[in-house]
Amino acid sequence: MSKQKINKLLIGTNNKGKLREIRSLIPKSIKTLSISEFNLKSPVENGKTFKENSLVKSRYFSKKTGLICLADDSGLEIDFLDKNPGIYSARWGGKHRDFNKAIERVYRELNKIDKNWKNKKVKARFVCALSISYLNKKIACVLGKVEGYISNKPKGKNGFGYDPIFIPLKKRKTFGEMKPSQKYKIDHRFQAFKKIRKFL
Ligand code: IMP
Repeated sequence: MSKQKINKLLIGTNNKGKLREIRSLIPKSIKTLSISEFNLKSPVENGKTFKENSLVKSRYFSKKTGLICLADDSGLEIDFLDKNPGIYSARWGGKHRDFNKAIERVYRELNKIDKNWKNKKVKARFVCALSISYLNKKIACVLGKVEGYISNKPKGKNGFGYDPIFIPLKKRKTFGEMKPSQKYKIDHRFQAFKKIRKFL
């Protein structure tokens, strides 16, 4: 399967921010389709790891459409919070997946742990598992990470999710303040994509 070239690929996400970024990474010779074209809801993410949840999605969407599917599962791990929200990153936004709510919860939880956290370096990382499946068969599954720390206030209006509170190592700006083209060159999805592109 890995030797066979893929010319049509379904991108298994309902998240517009992820879809935009994944599409920018895929070679132009591959026709990409999004699950919104098939009117599909996302499956229940019942895995215990990013990799397991990524495979739940790529297998589910592939079986529903009969197409090869690339899916992502990603999130933010904060060391002070025992690596939470982790695989629960989307769920911290509540029923409506409200990113402002999720960010408020991060600050609330940090305040509970340590009132003085704003004067410390709160280490964190974005993690992304990318997988490719064809029906029930796993073609590839890889993990990418970007290390950084939590900003003591949200900054920037670009991107989505936790971008306004994440500052990557050796940078001063949050992902929310960076241009998408700058973020896409260093982030967790790009690190994972570098490992999976040989399967495309
Ligand atoms: P899921 O992979 O659909 O379960 O959701 C992952 C969640 O992690 C997203 O809804 C965001 O809240 C967060 N997340 C993942 N990747 C990024 C990113 O690149 N920037 C900001 N937030 C992200």
